[in-house]
This record gives sequence, structure tokens and C-alpha cells, in this order.
Amino acid sequence: MSSTVAAASVAPTEAAASGHVSLTGVTKSFGDLTAVRDLELDVSQGEFLSMLGPSGSGKTTVLRMIAGFEDVTSGTIRIGGEDVTRIPPHRRPVNTVFQDYALFPHLTIAENVAYGLRVRGQSKRERQAAVDAALAQVRLDHVASRLPHQLSGGQRQRIALARALILRPRVLLLDEPLGALDKQLREEMQIELKSIQREVGITFIFVTHDQEEALTLSDRVAVFNDGRIEQIGSAREVYEYPRTEFVARFLGLSNIIPAETAQRLTGTAAAISIRPERVRLLAPDEQVSRDDVVVEGHVAEIVYTGPTTRVIVDGIDGLRLIAETQNSHHPSADVTVRRGDRVRVAWASSHAAELP
Ligand code: ATP
Repeated sequence: MSSTVAAASVAPTEAAASGHVSLTGVTKSFGDLTAVRDLELDVSQGEFLSMLGPSGSGKTTVLRMIAGFEDVTSGTIRIGGEDVTRIPPHRRPVNTVFQDYALFPHLTIAENVAYGLRVRGQSKRERQAAVDAALAQVRLDHVASRLPHQLSGGQRQRIALARALILRPRVLLLDEPLGALDKQLREEMQIELKSIQREVGITFIFVTHDQEEALTLSDRVAVFNDGRIEQIGSAREVYEYPRTEFVARFLGLSNIIPAETAQRLTGTAAAISIRPERVRLLAPDEQVSRDDVVVEGHVAEIVYTGPTTRVIVDGIDGLRLIAETQNSHHPSADVTVRRGDRVRVAWASSHAAELP
């Protein structure tokens, strides 16, 4: 489904109160440099969208334009159907969570979370009830009277989230919010973040350059390259069916087979991408089905990664393929080939993605 179709499917009345975000023809230039080019993007109410891409591809600039911290050079931004392109940040129904938490060090956690409500002039009683609810939402009700330095990194990030959510934005923008956390905490927080988003039901737009994080969290992933969206789709779509070599390579390991070799193997003259875990190492007399593409070659290398073993096979035309196998509980099912062995690998052609 194209993004324009998604926009048209939101009824005006629904759009008015919603966190539906729509960017039309948005371009941003900094002097000679075009950071974002003619961008079309529609994010549905309640959707978790990740913007993924290498450094400098324009993700943060898009986020900052939605927040209003950055003016657009041309184009229109709408939130809930309302044109917010020229509206200042504090009047947009959005809030942003940054990587560095930005908590006030001398205020307690409760005071930090209540801050935005105090600025809005809410009474102490109202603030108290809202703070209790927000802290419960991020499962940190027991730390209300502590100071920020008495919390762990993951806890501080959850407080930053509570502080943003208490203002009831229709859209929450998150700029690499887990970037400062170590791997284990980051993975815990990803699960937490996803469940909080489901509970509050508001639109989350999340910037990351970590592909695994984007795939884990998102309803859809927009893969950015040089100021453009190279592909947008569900995690499964962009991972299993990348439309360009850039997307195939950016989202994890991929076997890219050039068009000429692909033609010899499959009869179709288009380059293909096939994920290593889709490539099977065949047993010597194993039968294959008609749908399978088979390549013969020699084992060049065997790499043990813990959960998987990668067998690297050199085949025709200098083609090097990676076949990745899950290490099972049964030693008999583990990879038994050795370097230099002659082997066959195969994949179902339906598992390969054609690249233009
Ligand atoms: P990162 O993951 O490193 O944050 P990004 O994909 O978010 O990268 P942006 O920060 O949006 O990329 O930057 C896109 C391009 O715009 C880069 O080339 C960057 O140098 C440039 N840029 C961003 N902000 C400014 C600015 N205020 N002035 C000039 N150039 C800028």
C-alpha cells in the first residue's frame, strides 16, 4: 500500500483528533546540502514507526521538522489533519524524548515528571494524580522521591518517557532514546517501550540506526538513504523482501547475487538477495524440490557465532554464499562439514527477493 493511499483512508473526523502524521513533499536544505528530499510519509494513529538509516541519512532532521525545532524548506506537515508546518513547537501536539534524558538534576523524580504540568499551570493535586499515573505507567512508582543520579540509565530513560507522556501528546517522537544504554538493558527497554506504547496507544516515531532495534519495535520501518525513504514496510517486508541492494545490506547479512549469475541459476535476469538463514546446507544425497535453487561449491570457512553456525561456500562465477544454521540441542543436527568439503546449498526461490 502506498503512503498516499494510507493518508486518504483516514476519515477527516478521525484524523482531527488523532496522532496521524502526514508529510507531503517535505524538503530540507542546509545551504547547499539537501538533508531531506521531497519526502512523502504517512504514519497512522497509534502506529509505531521507526526511521532507520546510516548516519547523515536525514532521520533526525525529519524528526526535528515534525517537532517544529527545524523549519521545512518546502512541503507540508499535518498532524491529525491540521497543517502544523508553521506552528511553533510548543503548540504542536507532540513531545520528544532524547537520548540524553535531559532530567533536571536537582529536582526529584516526581518534580521532574510534573514539570510540564507545572508550566501549564495545573494545580498541585491534579499534578500529583497525573505523576502517580505516569510513574505507574513506566513501572517506577517507587522512585518518586529520589533524585535522577540515584537511578540507573534505564530507569532515567523511563522517567524521561513518563515526563513526555504526562503531557498527553498525540505523537511521541523518540530520538535514539536507548542509544546510551548497554546491550542487555537496551534489549529489556525495547520490550518495555513496545508494551508502554501499546498501553498508551499513541503514535510513536522512533529514530535509530540499529536495525535489530527497528525490526523488534516497529509496526513499520522506514529505511532512509541520503535524505530519501528507500523502502517502507513492516519489519518482515523490509527484511525478507528488500527492494534495493542498499536495504538488503543495511538490514543484516545478505547474500547478494548479481544479475548475470542469477540468470544462470534461476533464468531470471535480476540480481537477487537471499538471507543466510534461508540458505540450507544439503546432506550429500538430500532431495530438493522444484522450487529450490541449488548451488554447488566448496566450504571456504565455518564460523561459529553461538546460536548459529555460518558456512561460507564458494560457488560458480566467484559467488560466495553464506548458509546459516541454528545450533540445535542435538549434536547430530549440528554442522559437520569441514573446510574444503564439496557441498551443495539450496534455497526456495520464493524466499529470495529480486532487486532492481
Ligand atoms: P545521525 O544518525 O548521525 O543522527 P541522521 O540520519 O539523523 O544521522 P541528520 O542528523 O538528519 O542525519 O543529518 C542529515 C544531514 O544534514 C547530514 O549531512 C547533516 O550533517 C546535515 N545537517 C543536519 N543538521 C544540520 C544543521 N543544523 N546545519 C547544517 N547541516 C545539518
